[in-house]
Amino acid sequence: MSTLRFKALSETTNRKAVEVKELDRKSIIFGSNVFNDKSMRQFLTPEAYKAVKNAVQHGKKIERKLADYIAMGMKEWALSKGVTHYTHWFQPLTGATAEKHDAFFETSFEGADPVEKFGGSQLVQQEPDASSFPNGGIRNTFEARGYTAWDPTSPAFIFGTTLCIPTVFVSYTGEALDYKTPLLRALAAVDDAATDVCRYFDKNVKKVAATLGWEQEYFLIDSSLANSRPDITLTGRTLLGHASAKGQQLDDHYFGSIPTRALNYMRDLENECMLLGIPVKTRHNEVAPNQFELAPIFEEANLAVDHNSLLMDVMGKVAERHNFRVLMHEKPFKGVNGSGKHNNWSLSTNTGINLLSPGKTPMSNLQFLTFFINTIKAVYQNEELLRAAIASASNDHRLGANEAPPAIISVFIGEQLTKVLEELEGVSSGKLSPQEKTSLKLNVVGKIPDVLLDNTDRNRTSPFAFTGNKFEFRAVGSTANCANAMTILNTIVAKQLKDFKKEVDALIADKGMKKDDAIFNILREYIKESKNILFEGDGYSEEWEQEAAKRGLSNNKTTPKALKAKVSEKSLALFQELNVMNHVEMEARYEIELEEYTKKIQIEGRVLSDIARNHVVPTAIRYQNILIENVKGLKEIFGKDFENHAGEQIAIIKEISGHIAAINSKVAEMTEERKKANKLESAEDMAAAYCDQVKPYFDVIREHCDKLELLVDDELWTLTKYRELLFTR
Ligand code: ADP
Ligand code: MG
Repeated sequence: MSTLRFKALSETTNRKAVEVKELDRKSIIFGSNVFNDKSMRQFLTPEAYKAVKNAVQHGKKIERKLADYIAMGMKEWALSKGVTHYTHWFQPLTGATAEKHDAFFETSFEGADPVEKFGGSQLVQQEPDASSFPNGGIRNTFEARGYTAWDPTSPAFIFGTTLCIPTVFVSYTGEALDYKTPLLRALAAVDDAATDVCRYFDKNVKKVAATLGWEQEYFLIDSSLANSRPDITLTGRTLLGHASAKGQQLDDHYFGSIPTRALNYMRDLENECMLLGIPVKTRHNEVAPNQFELAPIFEEANLAVDHNSLLMDVMGKVAERHNFRVLMHEKPFKGVNGSGKHNNWSLSTNTGINLLSPGKTPMSNLQFLTFFINTIKAVYQNEELLRAAIASASNDHRLGANEAPPAIISVFIGEQLTKVLEELEGVSSGKLSPQEKTSLKLNVVGKIPDVLLDNTDRNRTSPFAFTGNKFEFRAVGSTANCANAMTILNTIVAKQLKDFKKEVDALIADKGMKKDDAIFNILREYIKESKNILFEGDGYSEEWEQEAAKRGLSNNKTTPKALKAKVSEKSLALFQELNVMNHVEMEARYEIELEEYTKKIQIEGRVLSDIARNHVVPTAIRYQNILIENVKGLKEIFGKDFENHAGEQIAIIKEISGHIAAINSKVAEMTEERKKANKLESAEDMAAAYCDQVKPYFDVIREHCDKLELLVDDELWTLTKYRELLFTR
């Protein structure tokens, strides 16, 4: 009997739900481990407090002396909560978060009394030994220094007994080595561009912030079961496993009552989130068995990104207490739904207006339409880049795989807004007559609010959908750092708004047009130009693929193909122009992402070879031997007549031999392809080889293994089965 699998099953069956202590009311504990406004007021001098506020609200630099005071206050606050260490917390391009803890505690060589120390210099800048973070060749080993620098716009927080200070991570020469740096630059770019455009409508607008509300999907698997599968342990997904007889076909999990163990996990997790100031709001079962979702109230994008990164970390830690493993992978199980991370995105002014929410007056609706149409145009002109923003080895399993948005980027806006755009398209060229304007204001622009109230049509197949007061970028993968998608989305929208402003100003200056005439004229042209990106139909259908090809939309199904858009001349120029990333940074990122892709496929290939050869084949042989013994015995008893009794067994013996032979030869062929790929020089060629030459073996090998799973005695099978992984609670 295969011990690990059955031991894991018995452990899982005997598990009790872990009790969770309820803390105080959420509104009371919220943010109590965050150095937020309340604690800053308490622990900082008014001067220091003002300096932080100015940095957050107006991007003002913090003077060195004040940094010392801020550090002192922060330390006192942290010590009052039993904290012993501090760390600069950052998001290198590994996809995980990084931290190196230092103690506050210090003694001096001269023998002075030991003290807890933390000054401005420790707060503002650190130099972690960073030589082994991905850098895409930016940092040569002889200049292995990387710096982390404090980001005051994201508040420091306490996790466990450590004070975590959110920071950016840059090379000695100033290039970004992390996710946060380009995100902050993109957010600044969209702030500038959107503020300029807002001022056509309201001179009081001084700042525009991008907002983000992510929705995190994940699977919860018992830790013993997860540990019993080498593929889950090493790759985060199952590389083989026959479908369970019952999967998600009954739709009985979605929004169903949450199993107790999972519910307790969520309660525990939510308590942690509350302390950390992550405003989680909803929790529910997702479509697949053992799949769940958690979503917060939306926040300013930089903070929301930090909160999602932190959450992913906390989810794993809390899971340990509950004997769960969180699977964040986009496709942990074949044949059941994968996980995504919808990025709900909008723009919001310092005057409290959501720019993607229709307003109450015709003028505010013109502002809404301006941002709405510019976003559509930005997506149209950069659809391939947006696809690149969400490309990863694991997300390739979802995109176009019939359950998630396809690899084609399109925009869904709903029936009513489609009609509004059609009417705007008919606006006459040049100056509008007073009658036309009145009619537009009354019948089109003025009508939007009540129209949208019944805009409940939600096309779940669209990768980029307008959902009433925000766009929802649904193609983002569940493992992704949202910063990648948010950097690119905000950059392309910034560029578009900048161009829009130029064009409108030109019409006003050169043609003497009135402001709203000019705006109507430009928007009309934009609608005409960007029509091809709008799609309301079934995004999963064959017909859409054909239609999209006719419209000239890209359909890059694999990561190596998709990523190319990041280094096209157009993209390089765009990121340079907006000061988000220079060529060196873009090329480096491209290389890092290709390498990550290659490594992921390489690891999966190795693990698959290992389990196919060292688990599946030996198990199949063991079972085959039992059958052979049986046949031999039947021959002894029945003599010549034995074939009448052993026919089935002999057929299975042959079938098993066939699968074993196929597995062995395919594994050998795949290994050969890996060797060839490894010899390639460029990261681009290597990723392409892994994608096109190595990866196709995965399905072939898997199929033979999964067939064997159906043939072999259940008692002998060593790998925990799908039904056990998905349905044990
Ligand atoms: P669903 O898409 O699951 O039906 P909702 O439409 O209620 O759910 O909201 C989904 C997410 O959108 C939530 O996380 C919410 O915080 C976020 N959201 C709502 N308004 C905005 C906004 N203006 N900007 C960014 N995110 C938003
Ligand atoms: Mg959603």
